[in-house]
Amino acid sequence: MGGYAYFRKRIVPLEEAKVSIVTHAFNYGTGCFEGIRGNWNADHQQTYLFRMRDHFERLKRSARVLRIEIAESVEDLCEITSELVRRSGYQEDVYVRPIAYKSGEVIGVRLHDIEDDLNIFVAPFGAYLDADKGIRCCTSSWRRVPDSSIPSRAKVTGVYVNSALAKSEAWDRGCDEAVILSQDGNVSEGSGENIFIVSGGELVTPPPAEDILIGITRGTVMELARTELGIETIERAIPRSELYTAEECFMTGTAAHLTPVVEIDNRLIADGVTGPITSKLAGLYNAIIRGRNSTYRHWCTAVAPAAAVSA
Ligand code: PMP
Repeated sequence: MGGYAYFRKRIVPLEEAKVSIVTHAFNYGTGCFEGIRGNWNADHQQTYLFRMRDHFERLKRSARVLRIEIAESVEDLCEITSELVRRSGYQEDVYVRPIAYKSGEVIGVRLHDIEDDLNIFVAPFGAYLDADKGIRCCTSSWRRVPDSSIPSRAKVTGVYVNSALAKSEAWDRGCDEAVILSQDGNVSEGSGENIFIVSGGELVTPPPAEDILIGITRGTVMELARTELGIETIERAIPRSELYTAEECFMTGTAAHLTPVVEIDNRLIADGVTGPITSKLAGLYNAIIRGRNSTYRHWCTAVAPAAAVSA
């Protein structure tokens, strides 16, 4: 993988950004991270970083939970990221991965008295799920880690073992993605996505109390539903069985964008094709993240990739 990374306060070629096997976060999962999309617009010859500020603000909140000090301000982080994306020069969709972590090379489970650091890298990253065809999901036998065990609103590296167990279980069962239930059996979220349904004509999504990561895409979709379609999203508990009778269902996430769910646990959602509210929201979202909608351009940071250096 080529490209550049921000590592130990400097921008370096990605292959130089290496950490020791003794690193605390590698041993104990004591890090927090973000995923930011850079969406390539070939007509504009620019990459649009979507809601970068909001992602770094969430990273700061996650770091607070883990008692990690991030020296850089949100503005610094946005500037560094724009420079990384520019220098990396990719003329395709990219994913930016900031990670703030316990970088101390010490043994011992704790959060206090351990050095912190923050790295950022950029990688080319196409479609994560098939948003055109829609996806098949199954409810996982694994339950979502409750907020009382690891704070859900923080995007903590270690908690992704829960997501990985659920995702691979879904994959083994021939599905694209898992729906993970909370400890009390209500719908929480996907392995890396929030979930919405249209039920009885209402747009519904689980509230933060269902141990969800409070997604930035989730917030975007709620705002678009309200301002562009005049639809208020209702945040309430969704029992598993309500998924089976929903008129529409979709998942949202930085990697997944807005992906229609067409089947859950071998039951088609409605008639198994993308529903009208889902397609309207997806159309709006897909234009906005590529800088094609001037009303929402403030959510996009434009970066012109540096010209590729020929070998
Ligand atoms: N839930 C989980 C567990 C996730 O990993 C993600 C992806 N960050 C999401 C929800 C969606 O969050 P966002 O829209 O901010 O990417």
